[in-house]
Amino acid sequence: MLTREFGATGKKVSVIGQGTWAIKSDARDALEVGVQLGMTHIDTAEMYTGAEEIVRQVIRNRRNEIFLVSKVVPSNASYRGTLRACEASLERLNTDYLDVYLLHWWSGSHPIAETMRAMEELVAAGKIRYIGVSNLDVEQLKEAQKALTREGIVCNQVLYHLRSRGVERRLIPYCESQNIAVVGYSPFGQGDFPLGSSKQAKALAAIAQRHGKTPRQVALNFLTRRDSLFAIPKASNVEHVRENAGGTRWQLTTEDLKLIDSVFPPPTKDEPLETA
Ligand code: NAP
Repeated sequence: MLTREFGATGKKVSVIGQGTWAIKSDARDALEVGVQLGMTHIDTAEMYTGAEEIVRQVIRNRRNEIFLVSKVVPSNASYRGTLRACEASLERLNTDYLDVYLLHWWSGSHPIAETMRAMEELVAAGKIRYIGVSNLDVEQLKEAQKALTREGIVCNQVLYHLRSRGVERRLIPYCESQNIAVVGYSPFGQGDFPLGSSKQAKALAAIAQRHGKTPRQVALNFLTRRDSLFAIPKASNVEHVRENAGGTRWQLTTEDLKLIDSVFPPPTKDEPLETA
């Protein structure tokens, strides 16, 4: 599995990670196989009921190999609420620290300055290594950055798949200018992946055939084609995990990229950030 530096952390992290939204206990084998294949970047959240407890079993005895990310829901993201939510996640995960802790999305529930102050305190206490955010547009990201006094934001986790490329216009360039990793969630459009005889499916199949890969591997390769990009597909099926692990360590050609642009057009104007 290809690894690359994760934003300003200087830590090498697997370019393809593993999502855990809505996983059930039967996903444990898949997560373990994923880890064995090098997909050691695991994304979870307090909101994904039951997921942290499953991840706990997967990371047991190999915590140091794992790059573990969890998230606080905005309704809990007051100063005290963030500290409490982090403690609860650590307990469910049975670990002393998170590699990155994210604000799950922006909302008016609590001032961003409160959340970020708590995040900095968690870093100082060694409970989290780095601070991240999710679903923030450029203006919100700038506000979150301004609210921090000692630490920086290392990642922004956003919706990014072939049919949703809006982040390419402003968000990815801004993150790259700040050395913030862009972690693309729902890389397969939450299961709505182009299949059958559509123009999009045919284009992916043609590219896949040229490289001896599958259409989903083409999608993952495309979504991680720049040094700032990571993808976190969710798969509960072991064969799916094996397939997803093959999304890196090979390169799409200029011709492939042109074909992708022709059937999955990149954004031509600024649009509000899309979320799942
Ligand atoms: P996704 O990864 O786009 O799609 C998941 C679906 O694709 C599942 O049905 C899975 O099936 C299937 N799949 C995965 N690999 C496959 C393969 N090789 N072949 C065929 N089917 C395959 O959707 P997602 O779960 O929404 O997104 C991934 C992760 O991103 C989440 O789990 C979560 O960690 C994160 N996320 C974050 C946010 C946020 O607000 N920050 C929002 C949404 C998601 P099986 O399970 O049967 O293998």
